[in-house]
Amino acid sequence: MNKLAVIGAGYVGLVTGICLASCGHDVTCMDIDECKIDQLKAGRLPLFEPGLQELHDTNTAKGRLSFTTNPEQAVQHAEGVFIAVGTPPRKDGGADLSYIHNAIQSIAPFLQKDSVIIMKSTVPVGTHADVKKLLDRTAGHPVRLVSNPEFLREGSAVNDFFYSDRIVIGSNDPSPASFVEQLYHSIPSPVIHTDPQTAEMIKYSSNAFLAAKISFINEMAALCEAEGADISMVAAGMGMDKRIGEHFLKAGIGYGGSCFPKDTTALLYSAAQQNITVPLLSSIHEVNRRQPRVFIKKVLDRFGSIEGKKAAVLGLTFKPNTDDLRRSPSREIINLLVEEGAMVTGYDPVVSVSGKRVWQIPLAQTMEEALTGADLAVICTEWKEIIDFPLHCYPLYMKEANIFDGRNCYPVSQARGLPLFYSSVGRPVYKGI
Ligand code: NAD
Repeated sequence: MNKLAVIGAGYVGLVTGICLASCGHDVTCMDIDECKIDQLKAGRLPLFEPGLQELHDTNTAKGRLSFTTNPEQAVQHAEGVFIAVGTPPRKDGGADLSYIHNAIQSIAPFLQKDSVIIMKSTVPVGTHADVKKLLDRTAGHPVRLVSNPEFLREGSAVNDFFYSDRIVIGSNDPSPASFVEQLYHSIPSPVIHTDPQTAEMIKYSSNAFLAAKISFINEMAALCEAEGADISMVAAGMGMDKRIGEHFLKAGIGYGGSCFPKDTTALLYSAAQQNITVPLLSSIHEVNRRQPRVFIKKVLDRFGSIEGKKAAVLGLTFKPNTDDLRRSPSREIINLLVEEGAMVTGYDPVVSVSGKRVWQIPLAQTMEEALTGADLAVICTEWKEIIDFPLHCYPLYMKEANIFDGRNCYPVSQARGLPLFYSSVGRPVYKGI
């Protein structure tokens, strides 16, 4: 058992802190957001992540988990300190490292001499060396720093922590690297030891490759539409080839969230700084950027004008099983619908019940409520609740059942014989009305 601190109690920090407590460590999570920490102290998670609340409750009851806004209290006895603050994009596309710098400056004066700082945040290649200098200077003594990028997926983050495909540990010094490895001793994942810059690059390359798969299948989907082929079957056929793999071959309105968009643009920025041309990377980003607009064109082609039409947008989060709205393609879809004069009502299984007001549109409390009287429905997130909502029920609620499925939630064959119009991504359109 080790005494650990996690700086930043967001999606990555909270999952890391709570799961490390489950591994038997004594963890203090620290955040500058007082509201978040107050909520956590009161026993409520400030975010939605399946399975995390239960782990939080168990470990808090066992006295292994505590929360604070005080950096000194968090790190003064910690043998290991994880940094998990945000690295959002700057206007120029580069990663904004100010949260990292502020976090380092706030904890450095209180660190133990031999504690290990573990970088979980996604930081551009070369950041390790700069952060090490800042740490040493602010702490007044050499500090051991290890890169340990995070690969969890929101929505399955707890499972991803305990069954990670790999644990990457980047350090030029074997001693702190083995300290970090033993923190994960109860997790049966392969461990890769590298130098820090390689660890940082593994993270960016992985996200860029996954984003590439999504943009690739979206480009193929456009060709399928033109040729009358079915992208779902194409993806299934491709995915059976082990060299390709079935994951991340789902055509749709594009990727979003806090990672892929920002990490691909940060990599583009780094490449530009190094004077390296990366046409493939630029295309991944470009294909994704235009995807919502390409999809809304289908709506406009169907209606001509949607001025005054009632539109239900189903699913707001960037993917299912999270409450994360950051860079969700649904936002661009809503903006485009509103720009074209539609009256938009949103529904999302998690966001609707949170009582949040999202992007200035009214939220319905149920899917039925969102659909009632609507001229068109646009599916933006493949929540199970939406997949389970029978296609034949849309005409019962809508004024006219024009369904634009941006996540291919239903087999096209299900639409056959129903009084509805069903258009999805890369598959034949069904015109039952
Ligand atoms: P987040 O915005 O959910 O959480 C960041 C937290 O850090 C916030 O609660 C914020 O209040 C806190 N914070 C900011 N400055 C602080 C400071 N000085 N001291 C203490 N706390 C501070 O971000 P996230 O999604 O958890 O991402 C964190 C990092 O992990 C990013 O670099 C991201 O790219 C990376 N990452 C994210 C995911 C993901 O799915 N969200 C997956 C892998 C890696």
